[in-house]
Amino acid sequence: MRILQPDIPHILFLFSDTGGGHRSASEAIIEALDLEFPNRMTYEMVDLFREYAPPPLNMAPEIYPPLSRMPSAWGFGFRQTNNPRRIRNINNMAWPYIRRSIYRLVEEHPCDLIVSVHPLMNTPVLRTFKRRKYPFITVVTDMVSTHAAWFDNRADLIIVPTETARQNGIKFGIPEEKLTVVGLPVADRFCRKEKDPLDIRKELGWPHEIPVILLVGGGEGMGPLEKTAYAINKARLEVALAVITGRNRDMKKRMEQFSWNVPVSIYGFVRNMPEFMQAANVLVTKAGPGTISEACISGLPIILYNKMPGQEDGNVDYVVNEGAGIWAPEPDQVVATLRSWLSAPELRWQVASACRRIARPQAAREIARILANHVGITKPEQV
Ligand code: UDP
Repeated sequence: MRILQPDIPHILFLFSDTGGGHRSASEAIIEALDLEFPNRMTYEMVDLFREYAPPPLNMAPEIYPPLSRMPSAWGFGFRQTNNPRRIRNINNMAWPYIRRSIYRLVEEHPCDLIVSVHPLMNTPVLRTFKRRKYPFITVVTDMVSTHAAWFDNRADLIIVPTETARQNGIKFGIPEEKLTVVGLPVADRFCRKEKDPLDIRKELGWPHEIPVILLVGGGEGMGPLEKTAYAINKARLEVALAVITGRNRDMKKRMEQFSWNVPVSIYGFVRNMPEFMQAANVLVTKAGPGTISEACISGLPIILYNKMPGQEDGNVDYVVNEGAGIWAPEPDQVVATLRSWLSAPELRWQVASACRRIARPQAAREIARILANHVGITKPEQV
């Protein structure tokens, strides 16, 4: 809801519930703004697709999950469009169809700064600035393989999570002074350890005495999550499973009806991921940038079982090259990795310490300070 106060800067966040990462990033930045600068700014989050785009684009959050389950088509689309000229052409073609909606968005949300955390919102919104200009900052929420659509030179600043993402920006024609590497914004609750993991386990009803393997497929329960959980179950490892199916209700129902050999807890979309990550011993996940960053902060060793072609290719290389996890695209590879980490826990601890080494727990707060500076707010000690 928009609460405009004339003497307080107002920041508009553009995101969409295509996956879980864009919402998580916006919420993490808003939380950090509140922690760093309490009561000094107001904010609102707008899902541009759902709230403004004409049909069928307003169905993007619903279309995204089935589309992302077609990896070859997704990868093809990513590669074919990952080029500034093609992105320009696509936006030019779409403009007559979307222009009224985008102008309406900008008129209905007067603000002091627009922050985009979604690649497809930058060029259309920046195009309306011919009429009326707002300060505009892009926060890139893909980690390494950052698509050309993220990089529009009309943005005042583009905040990226890694050096590779910065190099991509330069390759796509963004001047170096407009790019800054900060990290991916992650909720503050991942950065604070307020509870003993054993107490969290008790609250969650997880066993104390055996390792808990946390399985997550992003916000939509993507990749062969179910097959992987069944393979671990069949291997009868001495572990418990906590499976988060996200918004994939059908999968949740099927897994609830399955007859398991190991202790299992099955969840839909959870709101307390920090606690899940702090209480678990290993994460098995698709290569989503948000989940990877959160696991690194939590010091949780990662097994990546799936990736979205194109978009998440670089995340896999990043995690593996830094020693923070293993790429195991087949369920039996996941089982083999778990088996070796269970028999030699020191291997798991090495991976956990690599996770902590590459973690950037301060990213959300650093981004908050950058945004605040743009709207003329500084901390008393910075004045
Ligand atoms: N998430 C969550 N609850 C769930 C499943 C996922 O809060 O039940 C969050 C997760 O912690 C992360 C985001 O959703 O912040 C998923 O982002 P990621 O970039 O990993 O993948 P995406 O879903 O965007 O493809």
